[in-house]
Amino acid sequence: MTVLSGAISDKYELVVGLEVHAQLSTLSKVFSSDSAAFGAQPNHHISPISLGHPGTLPRINKKAVEYAVKMGLACNSTINLNNTFARKNYFYADLPKGYQITQDVKPICLHGSIKVKLTDGKMKDIAIHHIHMEEDAGKSLHDNHSENSLIDLNRAGVPLIEIVTEPDMRSSEEAGQFLTETRKLLRYLDICDGNMEEGSMRCDANISVRLKGATEYGNRCEVKNLNSIRNVQRAIEHEFTRQIGIIESGGRIHQNTLNFNADTGETSVLRSKEMANDYRYFPEPDLTPLFLDEAYLNNIRQAMPALPNELYKKYVNKLSLSEYDATVITAERELAMYFEGLIKHTTNYKSAVHLLMGPIKSHLNESGLSIIDIKVTPENLAGLIHLVDSGKINNSVATHKLFPALLASPEKSAIQLATELNLLISDDGGDVSGYIRDAIAKYPDKVIEYRKGKKGVLGLFMGEIMKSSKGKIDPQKTNQLLIKELEAK
Ligand code: ADP
Ligand code: MG
Repeated sequence: MTVLSGAISDKYELVVGLEVHAQLSTLSKVFSSDSAAFGAQPNHHISPISLGHPGTLPRINKKAVEYAVKMGLACNSTINLNNTFARKNYFYADLPKGYQITQDVKPICLHGSIKVKLTDGKMKDIAIHHIHMEEDAGKSLHDNHSENSLIDLNRAGVPLIEIVTEPDMRSSEEAGQFLTETRKLLRYLDICDGNMEEGSMRCDANISVRLKGATEYGNRCEVKNLNSIRNVQRAIEHEFTRQIGIIESGGRIHQNTLNFNADTGETSVLRSKEMANDYRYFPEPDLTPLFLDEAYLNNIRQAMPALPNELYKKYVNKLSLSEYDATVITAERELAMYFEGLIKHTTNYKSAVHLLMGPIKSHLNESGLSIIDIKVTPENLAGLIHLVDSGKINNSVATHKLFPALLASPEKSAIQLATELNLLISDDGGDVSGYIRDAIAKYPDKVIEYRKGKKGVLGLFMGEIMKSSKGKIDPQKTNQLLIKELEAK
């Protein structure tokens, strides 16, 4: 790989536009009733329609349209009420019809943007050119047989949306953040699982460079087959250096389609512009135009879930969470939904965050579970917060004893379990005095040290009292009583 001096690469600006394919999680395919589920035996989710038999007719899946509209609304796109479909013609073994049904001149969503946050704290809007609907092709399996390639048509006809951005990104970080935010939106909307490794979200990156200050874009290359956000970023970084190297040595960038090799981190030519397909798009004669109306859009608008940006704003502005906490909570839809449940039952938002990021996160990490597997209801967890806040249980006992008990018996309430396990702080001041007296009696030399001014030994007494009382004391009150006792001559 060419290594460029900083001075040379500093003269250039990177320009990136992304094309993101998202597989919509509908039950059936986009133009037939075949199951769209992932992971079935090869060629078990097929029918004469997805096999492209003559005489069969496609029929549009309502859910797929609804999902595409949802994504458009989430990106503030203009929804096109008058949609048409087109045939994109090419020959490949995994495309039995010989064409892919897609949208060409009238895509379902136009314009719009997705906001990304960069490490320097700045926000940037990445403009969307359009979002269109199309069907996926089947899959060619090249590694399963020694001599032949095998074809699995389960995926043929699974609904896709393609999100095409403007060439707005100027760094691999921006591209990475764009994909992260796009995936978050797809997941919050519950229209795609966003799993890049399994191919349910795929990305092609268009990359070019130009001298800083130039007004025209340079020639671009399009990198295909990027199966993780990290690899998109690696490909962009590699291309930036490669393209500058060519230009600096007097060459030109040819508008090629490139492959990315994840092992070497390098790109190679898949096909050149001269060999580019002519897809001969023409209107799909088997599908009538799809007319939507405002009432339809309003219904979808009203059923839109809260989106990560709105929740983020609410958490920072209304609940006074730190930006960091708000970012972590909204990063994953399920986590945000759990937190939303929690704050229906408690107004101690800080404790709610601490519980989620502390004991709950450790528990999930240790058990390999995800937040949706947590059986403790937000209501019961809020009960634990309430017990701590009202001084009925001490914080450490709540975390180390009551929380595991809630996990083990999620059907019981926090107060019920705390009572059963005898974890509640007794209101009886006499009890505490007993523990204090015992602790003082146990370490007479430390009492002398304390009286000579070594206040640090307080911790030792408190630790002893915590132990003997099994944490069933109010630490603040006890601390005060302990000091009084130690200072009494
Ligand atoms: P095509 O139809 O050949 O795929 P488009 O003009 O629709 O080409 O662009 C496809 C993608 O390429 C878009 O995401 C767009 O932002 C991006 N793109 C276009 N020109 C450039 C460029 N000079 N540098 C980087 N990306 C570009
Ligand atoms: Mg393209």
